[in-house]
Amino acid sequence: MAEEKVERFYDWFLRVLEEGEFIDQRYPVKGFIVHRPNAAIIEKHVYDMIEGELEKEGHKRSMFPSVVLKSFFEKEAEHAEGFAPEVFWLEPIKGESEERLALRPTSETIMYYMYALWVRSYRDLPMKLYQSCQIWRLDTKATKALLRDREFYWIEAHDVFRTPGEAEEQVLTDERIMQKTVWERLGIPFVFLKRPEWDKFPGGEATYAFETLAPDGRALQFGTTHNLGQKFSKSFEIQYLDEDGEKKMPYQTCFGPGVSRILACLIAVHGDDKGAVLPFEVAPVQVVVVPVLFKDNMKEKVMEKARELHKTLSKDYRVVLDDSDKTPGNKYYHWELRGVPIRIEVGPRDVEAGKVTLVPRDTGEKKQVPEENVLDAVKEEAAAMLERMKEKAKKDFESRVAEASSMEELGKKLDEVRGFVKVPFCDVESFDGLACADEIGERFKAFVRGVPAHNPEKPPEGARCIVCGKPAKHIVWVSRSY
Ligand SMILES: [Zn+2]
Repeated sequence: MAEEKVERFYDWFLRVLEEGEFIDQRYPVKGFIVHRPNAAIIEKHVYDMIEGELEKEGHKRSMFPSVVLKSFFEKEAEHAEGFAPEVFWLEPIKGESEERLALRPTSETIMYYMYALWVRSYRDLPMKLYQSCQIWRLDTKATKALLRDREFYWIEAHDVFRTPGEAEEQVLTDERIMQKTVWERLGIPFVFLKRPEWDKFPGGEATYAFETLAPDGRALQFGTTHNLGQKFSKSFEIQYLDEDGEKKMPYQTCFGPGVSRILACLIAVHGDDKGAVLPFEVAPVQVVVVPVLFKDNMKEKVMEKARELHKTLSKDYRVVLDDSDKTPGNKYYHWELRGVPIRIEVGPRDVEAGKVTLVPRDTGEKKQVPEENVLDAVKEEAAAMLERMKEKAKKDFESRVAEASSMEELGKKLDEVRGFVKVPFCDVESFDGLACADEIGERFKAFVRGVPAHNPEKPPEGARCIVCGKPAKHIVWVSRSY
């Protein structure tokens, strides 16, 4: 892997984001960044793909207010306590209400007030709504562009069911949605972890997180899904009349894919020393046509061919013709930094041979293709490139999951593999394990991220918690994180 990206990940990341014109951090409010077109267009495509999957699973789009009354916020006690330190408060509006308003840090307490008005009968269930929006959290730690902002962009889906089984099933559906988008179409490998009891969503019954790895070994969480059980339906008095004539409380789930975080993952996972490497489907510019001009007598012919190619390719793809006065080398640098998946070069020899030179961003290997096949050649190369990106990312991810059986070994492995280290651990299903998790945190600045939601490994016979020495109930995944 590229050295700069690994050794000084955040410096590299920020350089790519700023020089590549993805973001601008000069707006003078800490934690609030500008998403320039290169970022916002990718985010739009990510929104489209996840929204499409949510809709296939029966969700409907909606938009809820961004402010929440303090009293609503406080209805679910654990929720209020958990989020209180991160809330941006607005002053009460004079002459209207004495109550303060919060900018939503998440929308449960806004949406569920309405759900209580809407859910009447078992015929209203399941109710599945989502909104694509931004939320605000006053993180007091050092902010980091796209990784820890105070304003970020996401989708939140909030579902209501008759049975706990349907709620559990939804958690698996949410995971499938991430598999079909973040992994299959964006090539970001991830693990789906059930969080420890002490790290759950405030007010939820179980929290699951989607995590990949940054090159420096820190886990990048890009989404969560929560089984809320009946906690919120109790505090918000959401009730329905069931078939048997009884009033019942429904079961709820909420799912939050972080769109800005997914953009961060795309850059972090696929990028190299030259900059971003973007999957074709989401790239703001998918193909750049670069005329390579050096013989004066051929100049006009080359330009003409380049314009023709631009026109042909624009029928199917997002294409730019770089006819600036820069040298070819400078043009390559410019577009490589921005992650443009395919470059097409046209030079005098190509024109004479009726061919073009196609260069995929990931390998940089030049390939000559007949001019008349250029549309298909781009399509094929884009698909092949995604497969290569997936394979490379998966191999890298898998090589960075290690095991350890003592505290000492855990510390060593965390530095060595720069990733997740699996260790025997006493208990993540109750607060009994919290002291052990804190000890790991103190010694290595690493966290017990949880256990895989599917087929979690069982500790071997007689295995003991690497911190307290009590019998180990779980094999937990530990890592540093953003
Ligand atoms: Zn322990």
